[in-house]
Amino acid sequence: MDNKEITLLTDRVIVQMRQRAIPLGISNRHVHLSVKDYQRLFPGQPLTVKNALGQPGQFAAEQAVTLKGPKGQLKNVRLLGPLRSQSQIEISRTDARLLGITAPLRLSGDLAGSTGIILVSDSAEITLAEGVIIARRHIHMSRLDAAIYGVKQGERVNVEIKGTERTLVFGDVCIRVADDMRLEMHIDTDEANAADIGDGKPIAKLLLTPF
Ligand SMILES: [Zn+2]
Repeated sequence: MDNKEITLLTDRVIVQMRQRAIPLGISNRHVHLSVKDYQRLFPGQPLTVKNALGQPGQFAAEQAVTLKGPKGQLKNVRLLGPLRSQSQIEISRTDARLLGITAPLRLSGDLAGSTGIILVSDSAEITLAEGVIIARRHIHMSRLDAAIYGVKQGERVNVEIKGTERTLVFGDVCIRVADDMRLEMHIDTDEANAADIGDGKPIAKLLLTPF
């Protein structure tokens, strides 16, 4: 095989890899806690793994809390581990309405000026001044995947999701690149419902048209 043939073959492989379906992770409402807030809510109790999540090292914990807002409560909201430097509560717009709060659309970790909430466990009730966000939809990928798709950290792309009976193109999907990340798109339950994801086998594809 000469160089020209190798280049042709490589190009074809890249085109095919760009067309592969992106695994979808639907994030139900959940809570990440700081060590300090965790110890206040679950004194003397280790954070225990219920099941592993799509990204390496991330897990759903056995522990859960109640979110208390001015208009309503959401019970049994799962904690995700490991513990973080800051507490962060991710909910959908529907959840925010039910709780009676407004929450900004943000990427994970961008919490300055976000909304406060009351968290309740069997042992304690704590009030957080901020930490509630609606997560901006995003795709986690490794540097190799970013090179294959020709996208950069922070770039916004379009993704088409074929659901059970309807198809939806999501614009404004943020690319998040890190070496320890596995290719996976994260959307919330409102977005999953809008795309008719249900229990079927939705297919998500990155569209290489500019956003
Ligand atoms: Zn994510």
